[in-house]
Amino acid sequence: MERTLALDCKGKVGQKVILFGWINTVRDHGKITFYDLRDASGIIQTVTKKRFDVSAEDVVKIEGVVTKRPQKLINPQIATGEIEVKVDSLTIIGKSETLPFPIDDLGLDIEETLRLKYRYLDLRRERLVTNLKLRHQMINFMRQFLTKRGFVEIETPILTKATPEGARDFIVPSRLQPGNFYALPQSPQQYKQLLMVAGFEKYFQIARCFRDEDPRTDRSYGEFSQLDLEMSFVNQEDILQLIEELFAEITEKVFKKKVYKFPFPRISHQEAIAKYQSDKFDLREKKDPNVLAFAFIVNFPLFERTQNQPISPSHHPFTAPKDEDIPQLFKDPMKVRSWQHDLVANGLEIGGGSIRITDPNVQRKIFKILGYRESEIEEKFGHLLNAFIYGVPPHGGIALGLERILMVATGEENTREVTAFPMSSSGQTAVMDAPSKVDEQTLKELKLKKL
Ligand code: ASP
Repeated sequence: MERTLALDCKGKVGQKVILFGWINTVRDHGKITFYDLRDASGIIQTVTKKRFDVSAEDVVKIEGVVTKRPQKLINPQIATGEIEVKVDSLTIIGKSETLPFPIDDLGLDIEETLRLKYRYLDLRRERLVTNLKLRHQMINFMRQFLTKRGFVEIETPILTKATPEGARDFIVPSRLQPGNFYALPQSPQQYKQLLMVAGFEKYFQIARCFRDEDPRTDRSYGEFSQLDLEMSFVNQEDILQLIEELFAEITEKVFKKKVYKFPFPRISHQEAIAKYQSDKFDLREKKDPNVLAFAFIVNFPLFERTQNQPISPSHHPFTAPKDEDIPQLFKDPMKVRSWQHDLVANGLEIGGGSIRITDPNVQRKIFKILGYRESEIEEKFGHLLNAFIYGVPPHGGIALGLERILMVATGEENTREVTAFPMSSSGQTAVMDAPSKVDEQTLKELKLKKL
């Protein structure tokens, strides 16, 4: 006989089944005992007159017969609430120690380092299971939606050269070229532009991005995922319409929520600042959790002043200035507007992108304005400028932060709640305890330590 999943018992009333899973709860009612069994499909009540030496979280095999529950014992809270399994035999396969914390609640009060140390147990929690399944459904939907529209999913390197997105790089020492380093990508930005030069025209990737910047509740430390895409021969409105359609469908079909306004309002950066004092605003009047209020922000200034820099890109240095503003680049750069577009939902910035610069001369000018020396431009971006002399199509794209989107959809207040193995706020990895020391020999091999 084959294994039956808890949920599939629904169609097997009167039949013998074999179940495998974890003991979710033990409820001793004197004459009879209920053992709720949990597997990947859900929970099912099993019942027996015998006593077994079994406790919560043990992995067991249960053989028994599926029966209908009496009317008054039906539990509408669970999918298998109308049935139960009468136990013939119960075998323990994997005994469990008492868990370091309860997993039958939301778990939000448990200390973060403890939750992350035992993340594999924390992930047994229903809330996190639901969040990760939603994440999977969303990614699956994105893949299908884009594939149907002719996009090609292409992976780009993780060990690569720095690509600026306004954060610090993570660097990896090279053993074959001691003294030289790879950088982990802050995004696949330059590779996706090179894929447009290659002629793919429509690219996407569920991309890991690595940024060494201070964590916030809406920003994971270290790494996160984006839906990254790029298209050739399009204008800004083409990109916005694709994203609008994608998110309207995801909201309704995957999140089972409503879109506040469709088409998503396009609001200029200037107007957003005037009206909301921020470029991350919430269109909703009341904070209705079942509604997602998307809006695009366009017409950004190309440059901004930051605390550390008198002039830096509002987005990244590859964003195209508006044609009519190009003559202003050297005269009054802060007045130049760009083809950047951001997407916000319920007050959170969930993505951004732009039409790109494809004229190597304009790109050089931008780097110069940003303070790069001629030699630095060649060393850091020569490959891109060189690619642009071999027939570059006009192109643009966008990237959407998956964790942010899921935060909006689930109402979670931290990206960690929608990530399987997130880092702690002090940059410690879950379970595996990195960063950690490496042995002397490794350091010597990498020429990071004298022999
Ligand atoms: N690379 C950009 C980012 O990570 C997105 C884009 O311009 O497409 O924000």
